[in-house]
Amino acid sequence: MSWENNVRRVIPYVAGEQPKNKNVIKLNTNECPYPPAPGVEDKKRELDCGDLRLYPDTDASTLRSELARYYGVRDEQIFIGVGSDDVISMSFMTFFNGRAPILFPDVTYSFYDVWAKLYRIPYEQIPLKEDWHIDPSDYKKENGGIIFPNPNAPTGLLESLDTVESIIAANKDVVVIVDEAYIDFCGKSALPLIEKYDNLLVVQTFSKSRAMAGLRVGFAIGNEKLIKYLNDVKFSFNSYTMNRPAQVLGVEAVRDDAYFKDICGRIINTREWVKKELTRLNFSFPDSSANFIFAMHKNKPAKEIFTALREREIYVRYWNKPRIDNYLRITIGTDDEMKALINALEEISIS
Ligand code: PMP
Repeated sequence: MSWENNVRRVIPYVAGEQPKNKNVIKLNTNECPYPPAPGVEDKKRELDCGDLRLYPDTDASTLRSELARYYGVRDEQIFIGVGSDDVISMSFMTFFNGRAPILFPDVTYSFYDVWAKLYRIPYEQIPLKEDWHIDPSDYKKENGGIIFPNPNAPTGLLESLDTVESIIAANKDVVVIVDEAYIDFCGKSALPLIEKYDNLLVVQTFSKSRAMAGLRVGFAIGNEKLIKYLNDVKFSFNSYTMNRPAQVLGVEAVRDDAYFKDICGRIINTREWVKKELTRLNFSFPDSSANFIFAMHKNKPAKEIFTALREREIYVRYWNKPRIDNYLRITIGTDDEMKALINALEEISIS
């Protein structure tokens, strides 16, 4: 008998690389290429370090109220976490305690199976269709809960609100989580459905469209009862999760709606241009509604392209996993970054 017999052993999630070298073109972790809203920068300078002596507000109530105002819901319908990873992980712990397996797509955010294993939640990965779309009829069987991103990652494909609703409507006895990390880049949010379905939790993040991956802010919106259960678990785990600067700066990001819409619009325009260029270079890809494109080349293996790009200090994401090992996930950067990418791809696929 060794103490190691009682260790919870897990195979952790592997996050995309964060290179130390600042000069690389970083298109591997779906960050925003633009800075946060100007008000965030101003507030950062004003931040009173004396306040760091004090514990932060456990409810992040100012940020919660600002989000409630923005999304037209009550404060009690919002749960705030340290990035949406924190929100989703808390949600797994809170809502997925049944015996039946929880369901999520086979090709999706690769943290879901890690959390399921960590919390010992049985799960089943439902294969996406050949065209990478979800077949809602696959989700009409006994289960202990459902989670999927919309748009999905790493495919970038958006499901219609009708598809999303049909999954929620068929699963009223379990919690359905729609992970909307990328919804601001074209999609229709499931948020209006929270009034109709008390089992729906919509999760979003400041990491992509609000340009604040480094600050770690995510949130969930749903029925007040769902949010109360989430808070009960959070306060049984760690009350002071979100630090003071994140709460203060998060508020400024939500206040500047014009800036938010402007950077989303810019990323969408760049994405549509990159789609044309990739097609010209013999890549194919699902039609992305996110801030990345999941692309496969007609002749050249993805792994070779990944390595050749890396040699040129351009980082994209590659997974050596079934079904997706010939794809690259390319984050949409600035126009200049994407021009450099296209030039590099031109060199690589010809050589
Ligand atoms: N959901 C999806 C689908 C994602 O791709 C990511 C980004 N890795 C997250 C959630 C988590 O993002 P964050 O914790 O930065 O909010």
